[in-house]
Amino acid sequence: MAEVTCSFCGRNKKDVDLMISGIHAHICDKCVMQASQILTEEKKNKVEAGALPNFKLIKPREIKKFLDEYVIGQDQAKRIMSVAVYNHYKRLMQRKMDTDIYIEKSNIIMVGETGTGKTYLARTLAKILQVPFCIADATVLTEAGYVGEDVESILTRLLQAADYNTEAAERGIVYIDEIDKIARKSDNPSITRDVSGEGVQQALLKLLEGTAVNVPPQGGRKHPDQKMITVNTENILFICGGAFEGISKLIGRRLNTRPLGFTASADSLSPSDIDKDNLLQFVSAQDLKTFGLIPELIGRLPVVSFLNPLDHDALRKILTEPKNALIKQYKKLFEMENIEIEFKEGALDFIVEKAVEYKLGARGLRSICEAIVIDAMFEMPSEKSVDKLIINRAYAEEKFSKSHYSKLKVA
Ligand code: ADP
Repeated sequence: MAEVTCSFCGRNKKDVDLMISGIHAHICDKCVMQASQILTEEKKNKVEAGALPNFKLIKPREIKKFLDEYVIGQDQAKRIMSVAVYNHYKRLMQRKMDTDIYIEKSNIIMVGETGTGKTYLARTLAKILQVPFCIADATVLTEAGYVGEDVESILTRLLQAADYNTEAAERGIVYIDEIDKIARKSDNPSITRDVSGEGVQQALLKLLEGTAVNVPPQGGRKHPDQKMITVNTENILFICGGAFEGISKLIGRRLNTRPLGFTASADSLSPSDIDKDNLLQFVSAQDLKTFGLIPELIGRLPVVSFLNPLDHDALRKILTEPKNALIKQYKKLFEMENIEIEFKEGALDFIVEKAVEYKLGARGLRSICEAIVIDAMFEMPSEKSVDKLIINRAYAEEKFSKSHYSKLKVA
């Protein structure tokens, strides 16, 4: 039999670690490695030469439609996010030398109570994104030199999401949660100077502005002999979210103190136009400043959006309607044990009532459901004779009353 040799370099099979055979040819591991290096090099050259990333543009309406499958309500926030992501792609596809019009990026800030879906919206968005995406928490960030994570750690996460492909990370999207927690405590810096919060805001500002940042690839604190990766943040889209507890009062105060008489502008509302139960929808950069974000940072977050508080109806829908709704997940879990589980309307209403009563929002739905089904999930896998479980209001009430939740005081 003829000796097997590499069709590229001619090495004999016994002189190499691995020989891969095709229909009419063979290739050794060394040639595969070399070819791979050539490919990487070529790709890099193309990028440096200004080749543009090739996206399949998903139009805002399609993005929103996708979000609708998972996130209930929050129409305005979804529209804003869809447009922002679409424009982000368009911006990335713009050839710098093509035009003298430079499209600026529109970083976003979302204001909404906890548990209204800010993070969920960002996470869902990540599923259709064609760029690296990461979620960071502002509360763990501190100014350089203090205990906690440096602001650069956000980019470490993005790099990890991009498999350390710097060029891909530089086109990514970052969601920064709990941005309100780094607000300085007073609008007037000279009275109470909350240095830590303001310091972090200053550090974040640099990232948002677009600059080359040295990032420790493994995260953690920077130390002198660590090898750094330089990431340019110019094309990274930042989306920030926060509950901004108490901001409604500031909005209310601003709306009431506005001089009346200019009713033509959308900005000046007459008192009868104001929906007092949901003042968040009128949130503006001014309120964020009063809350304690520094004006420079607000300036870098030009798109301000809000999320509505979730009422009874919305919570009810969240339980059953989204693609991976909680109830659907329980059905699946029981189905895997060959047990059919059915939640009656009364039980669903009870779950929502408790979530509202305990002011737990959508986040509470899950813990309440868990409290109700935990006994069944513990017992039923061992009870071979049972193949159906019906959860009605009485069952839900009984199980819930035994849980630690029922012992909590309603806030
Ligand atoms: P936030 O970031 O606003 O504090 P989250 O996004 O973490 O709140 O919401 C907590 C959970 O509640 C989510 O994981 C999701 O399951 C559910 N949830 C919240 N809002 C919605 C919504 N509008 N539609 C569907 N599920 C929601």
